[in-house]
Amino acid sequence: MSDFRFGLGHVTLDFLATLGRPAGSRIERLAAPHDLDRWIAEAGMAAAPCASGQLLDDARELREAIRRVLDCAREGSPPGAPDLRLVNEWARRPVAAPQIGPDLARVSVGPDPVTGALAHIARESVEFMTGPELARVRTCAGCTLLFIDRSRPGTRRWCSMERCGNRNKTAHYRQKRRT
Ligand SMILES: [Zn+2]
Repeated sequence: MSDFRFGLGHVTLDFLATLGRPAGSRIERLAAPHDLDRWIAEAGMAAAPCASGQLLDDARELREAIRRVLDCAREGSPPGAPDLRLVNEWARRPVAAPQIGPDLARVSVGPDPVTGALAHIARESVEFMTGPELARVRTCAGCTLLFIDRSRPGTRRWCSMERCGNRNKTAHYRQKRRT
């Protein structure tokens, strides 16, 4: 059963969403190496990744570093040097490259799929944090996950109306009825 969140507007935010942070608690969705495998497969980055415990640690470390740099980028404050170094190191690592075979079939060559996926995420996050969509990042008023608000007025409050908006409306409605 997948409890991963995709569709938050950018792969960086989907990756950050593997750590939920509702009201002071933490929900770790990358609890074991096979969770990371499942996330990478569901994100469509590799067909059969096989993460080690070390790569799981690396993934979480990269995720936390990206999150802290992103928070700084949003506030306009200087990010920590170790976080920048880590994100940049991963962004320099090789990603899988598409190759065409003699039978005209496409194959993918490169590092092991998990390493390639983390490098890909790091590259995407650098593009993202230095690009125009940074200004559109919002914190969901329901689940506190980050999402991109592409609406024209830029006043969206929920990551998804179905998931968080409606739930909140219902709670509000119940509260009103009680009083
Ligand atoms: Zn939400």
